Formats: sequence, structure tokens, C-alpha cells
Amino acid sequence: MTGTTGTTGTTGTTGATGITGITGNVIVVGSGPTGLLLAGDLADAGVPVTLVEKRPHHLSNLSRAFVLHARTLEQLDARGLADGLEEAGRPLDRLRLFGRLTLALDTLPSRFNHLLVIPQYEVEKALHRRATEAGVVFRYESEVTGLAQDADGATVTVRTAAGETEELRAAYVVGTDGMRSAVRNAIGLPFPGRSVIRSVVLADVRLAQEPESLLTVNTAGDAFAFLAPFGDGYYRVIGWNRARNVADSEPLGLDEVKEVTRLALGRDFGMYDARWMSRFHSDERQAPAYRVGRVFLAGDAAHVHTPAGGQGMNTGLQDAANLGWKLAQVLHGHARPELLDTYQAERHPVGKAVLRSSGGIVRLAMAKRPWTLALRGALTAFLGVAAPARRRALGRITGIGYRYPAPRGAHRLTGTRVPDVALAGGGRLHEALRGGRFVLITPEAYEAAGAARKDRLAAERWASDRRTALLVRPDGYVAWAADSADAAAVEAALAAHLG
Ligand SMILES: Cc1cc2nc3c(=O)[nH]c(=O)nc-3n(C[C@H](O)[C@H](O)[C@H](O)COP(=O)(O)OP(=O)(O)OC[C@H]3O[C@@H](n4cnc5c(N)ncnc54)[C@H](O)[C@@H]3O)c2cc1C
Repeated sequence: MTGTTGTTGTTGTTGATGITGITGNVIVVGSGPTGLLLAGDLADAGVPVTLVEKRPHHLSNLSRAFVLHARTLEQLDARGLADGLEEAGRPLDRLRLFGRLTLALDTLPSRFNHLLVIPQYEVEKALHRRATEAGVVFRYESEVTGLAQDADGATVTVRTAAGETEELRAAYVVGTDGMRSAVRNAIGLPFPGRSVIRSVVLADVRLAQEPESLLTVNTAGDAFAFLAPFGDGYYRVIGWNRARNVADSEPLGLDEVKEVTRLALGRDFGMYDARWMSRFHSDERQAPAYRVGRVFLAGDAAHVHTPAGGQGMNTGLQDAANLGWKLAQVLHGHARPELLDTYQAERHPVGKAVLRSSGGIVRLAMAKRPWTLALRGALTAFLGVAAPARRRALGRITGIGYRYPAPRGAHRLTGTRVPDVALAGGGRLHEALRGGRFVLITPEAYEAAGAARKDRLAAERWASDRRTALLVRPDGYVAWAADSADAAAVEAALAAHLG
């Protein structure tokens, strides 16, 4: 193949095969939230990255997701984006799941002990701004139609708005191109699973009468409805009437949204002025692998599930946060390519767990048979009294409860999430992580580490009298820990993880 590049190549020329440009080390396909976060992280780490998007511009008028959970807010905080989004959204301190089951969030061990109701496009806007500032090259009106890979890189075939075909080449390609991922199809991966709920209606409306509680949800007979405020005067309504099973293409009017709301919640709150309405069905699917050679999948391209629990966008953003720093480490020659295998090992099980939990919530919410109703009642009662079970459920939904597998013999903290701990000098971990850096936290100052790897490592001290030495990965999980460590042990850990 002509015009090819090695794993660190950045530019190229047209070759006999028609390759019109080698655009960077990584091509990210799809500028939804997952692709935007990933591309921003890569560019921030100095990796040339091109984001290929079939839409004509980044602004989407779709506000599918509307919830940011604690772990995602932590990740966004580690990129300096959380405070702005917190101002734009509306925090809720309770999560209503089904029946009378409400989980209080104010005890969450996170700076973000709430969930943030905010339209997906606000999140995308913030991520797009950051990616642009970091130097991501955007190619709009470019639809990926094919992909081939070899030992040195991958070549993506793109159809432009003018109907022309171009080929772009990079060391790695990441498919963040959503549920119908062309990248996933091109690498021959199936997307096994099934449709779970059909003909769900969704609308963003104003209400003449304000509901008594912030989150309003109920099931009655065949109907389910959910209401949550965006904070800008509009409410998100999600409704499902089991008795009305129609195709997604069937036109949807406000009367139908009102009707399902009345059936489930007893009244329609005088809803009016719908700024967006849509009918959709919900699938539960997961790709069996998140990586084939030089091609990765993340976000909805890798997993989809029901909107119950509001975990879809959140899980995609966590995928991106996991993969970005690893690709940057490998492309800069600071880590062996095997580091990339940990993406599948760490994120695939999380995707599987999210499918299970969101599916469980929806099945229990829509329980109709006596035994499922009994199970729902028992679970509601159990979670009401069993604090550890409640904590576990909350950890799953908010994302703060996941840990990654640790190598045999590693310290017990390895792979765990590090909360936003206070650092000596008045800073905090999420600030130190900004810029995609590792953070070393030790009881005493560790000068050599800071000097040797200044750009990629922040050397910090605990604000408390803690004796543990901790090396935190750029995505906020423990890479290495020791209860007490001398300089040689710290140096060995830095060499192992930072190269
Ligand atoms: C009703 C509803 C409510 C939801 N609520 C929540 C919630 O509260 N919380 C939550 O976390 N999640 C929620 N979700 C899920 C969430 O919207 C998705 O998980 C999220 O959008 C996935 O982001 P993504 O970037 O992976 O993919 P997408 O957002 O699907 O982005 C994919 C991008 O790839 C582009 N693309 C596709 N094919 C190609 C191609 N061949 N070439 C180039 N570009 C291409 C598309 O144009 C698009 O821009 C909800 C979903 C629905 C439907």
C-alpha cells in the first residue's frame, strides 16, 4: 500500500491506491459525546487526531440523554468542564427508580453527590469547544463507508458531501459512530442482543402545573411515565404504553404524550409547547470485543441498552476516558502496545454490568406478572433497609462503584477509583489530573519524579497525614500503590507506568 504511515506517522501523500492524505495518528469516527471526549483527550495529549462526522456540523438538536452521573462529572472535572455544566444544569439529590424506590444521592462519596439534569447537547457543546481548542481536526459531511487494516495502520474510506470517495489513514481508528456503527460492521463484529421496549415516546415540554417532586415517575396498568426538569423551564417526558405498540416512524403528537402521562401519573400537568418529540425503541446489545487489531469501539458503537438509570452517554464517556490516555501513551512510545489490551479487559465487563442493571430496572419498573411484582416489592423493601446493597446499587448507577481488574499480587487499591482527595498546598486531585497527567501522591515531597517527567506527571503530597504512596492514572484510577514506599520503589513504579 502506498502513502502509508507507521504508528507515529502524521502526514502522507496521494498514492497509486488513491489515498489522499494521512491525517493523523488517530481517526475518531463520530462526533457524539464519546468521540468528542476521546478526540479532545488525544489532542490534549499531543496526538494528531481527526474526527470524521457524517453530519454537516457538530450541533445536534437531539437531546437524547439528559443526566450526568457522579463519575462522569468527576471525569469532566478532571478536564475543567464540570463547573460550567453544573451551572447550566439542575442538580437532583434523589434517584427514583421504580415503584416507591427512591435512592438518596446526598451521601455519595463524591464531590458530585447528586445527578445533574442537563441536555446532551449542552455536554456536546462543552466537549466540542474543548476538542477544538486542543486542535482536533474536524471533517464534517464525511461518512465512513469502509475500513481496512494492516500491520502498520488502518485506512478508512470516507464518502464526502460531494459524493466523492476518499481514503484516510492513521495508526489507530476508534469507532464512536453510535449504535449502527459502520466501523463495527467493517471489522466484522456482530452486535448481539435484542429489542427490549418498543414505541417509547419522548418529549421536551413546558408544564402549566409544576409537579410536587423533582423527579416524577410511575407505572399504572400498561403505562409508564417519567418527568424530569431541565432547569430551563422545560421538562423531559418519557412515556410508554404497552398497549400501543407502533413503529418508530409513526407520527407522534402532543396528545399521545399527554395521554400516556395521564394513564401513568393521573394527570398531564397541562403540558404544552413541545420543543422536541420522538418515538423510539430500545435495544440491549453489546459487541463481543471492543478491539480488533488497530480498531477500537467505544460508546453506543460498543454497547446499547435502555435509557433506564440514564447510563448510556455516561458509559460512553467513561469508555473514552479509559482509552484516550492509553492510546496517547502508546503513540508517544511511553508504553507497550499491550497496554491497549486493558481497554477491553476493563471496559467490556462494565458495559455488560450496565446492560444488566438498566435492563433490570426497566423490567422491574414494568412488572406486571404477580411474581415480578412480588420481586419488585421485595427488592424495594430490601434496598430500603440494607444500606450496603443500596450503596452497591448507587455505585453501579452513578459509575463510582466500578473498579478495574488488578494484576495478581498488586496492592488492594490498584484499579480502584480515587475520589477527589485534598492535596497539600490547597489543590485537589481532579485539578492535578487536568492536562491528562498521572498524579503521584506521596507523604513527603518527591522531587526527582516531578523533574524527570514534568509534562506527564504531577508530583503531589497528601493534605492529610496519610502514609500511602499512590500513582493515579490520567483517568483517575489507581495504577500503583504502596502502604509505605521508598524512593526506589516509587521510581520503579514510575518507570513501569510512565515509561
Ligand atoms: C430517549 C433516550 C434517552 C437517553 N437518556 C440517557 C441519559 O439520561 N443518560 C445517558 O447517559 N444516556 C442516555 N441515553 C443514551 C445516549 O443518548 C447515548 O448513549 C449517547 O448519545 C451515545 O453517545 P455516542 O457518542 O457513543 O454515540 P452517538 O451520540 O450516537 O454519536 C454517534 C455519532 O457518529 C456519527 N456517525 C454515525 N455513523 C457515522 C459514519 N458512518 N460516519 C461518520 N459519522 C457517523 C453520528 O452522526 C453521530 O454524530 C438516552 C438515549 C435515548 C434514546
